[in-house]
Amino acid sequence: MVIVMKPKTTRTEIEKIKRKMESLGCQVHEVQGENRNLIGLVGDTSKIDPDQIKANRNVEKLIFIQEPYKQVNRLFHPLDSVINVKGNSIGGKNLAIIAGPCSVESEEQIVTIAKQVKASGARFLRGGAFKPRTSPYSFQGLKEDGLELLKIAREKTGLPIVTELMSADYLQKFVDDVDVIQIGARNMQNFDLLKEVGKTKKPILLKRGMSATIEELLMAAEYIMSEGNENIILCERGIRTFEQYTRNTLDLSAIPIIKKLSHLPVIVDPSHAAGLWWLVEPLAKASLAVGADGLIIEVHNDPANAKCDGQQSITPERFDSLMKLLKGIAHIENKEL
Ligand code: PEP
Ligand code: MN
Repeated sequence: MVIVMKPKTTRTEIEKIKRKMESLGCQVHEVQGENRNLIGLVGDTSKIDPDQIKANRNVEKLIFIQEPYKQVNRLFHPLDSVINVKGNSIGGKNLAIIAGPCSVESEEQIVTIAKQVKASGARFLRGGAFKPRTSPYSFQGLKEDGLELLKIAREKTGLPIVTELMSADYLQKFVDDVDVIQIGARNMQNFDLLKEVGKTKKPILLKRGMSATIEELLMAAEYIMSEGNENIILCERGIRTFEQYTRNTLDLSAIPIIKKLSHLPVIVDPSHAAGLWWLVEPLAKASLAVGADGLIIEVHNDPANAKCDGQQSITPERFDSLMKLLKGIAHIENKEL
């Protein structure tokens, strides 16, 4: 439920109504709307009498949120959320480009790629240290050593680092060392992990599960937000369909749909959606054209010998030419790249 206050309602009146709602046993979240303050109510709202709220002369209207996701709902927070990562904004007018290899392999590899993608305009460095692999015999990532190498690359380039957390056992280390914690497609419904990252204030990049509906993705974000962490970036990375040509099917319509339903920024991962390097460019362009707030792209300086996902990784040279094309689309979309 959302209480929309009339414009110019005094702080004292707003506080009074907030305290009253709290005393009735629900959680109260105040949100600044375009001209008016909103008071969002979640949890047990059974003791609330809507007629009594409407009787308050400072209340303009009451909105009942039918959807199961409340705090991530655009009704709860009408303006776009902008997530700040060390002075870099994700959402709003800013397009966030995250680039780097699927996995961190060596200091030379990650530092070289970081410098190259930075020179082309990437604002964040990605690189997996803990890798969720289908086969237990595949490269599992350099783990803590990989995190150390990411930190070196960050030091040398200034790019904030984005990397996947698979287990809450490493949460504190990630909070200390990492700038954006990625929750991968396979863990999108690992509710205990979602609750744990929700207890931090770290920006979370939440990827859509490969068989998850849009509503399930939003409910996963609600788990994080219900614990107090509002810094969430959603990511469409392709879903499983009957189509076999691509690794997944990029659900382009999910982007405008999510932006209609939620205030959270949404970015696209064309690399994992396609599974093929030559499809990354057209899918990246299409993603910005449908309103994505950014992209996460796998870039490798030696794709043929990459330890993971070489077939879908573009070279730094291709990334550079792609960035030039994306600047044109950003301009049309009135966004900044
Ligand atoms: C990744 O980004 O390297 C990754 C494993 O992605 P996803 O969770 O989307 O498969
Ligand atoms: Mn990958």
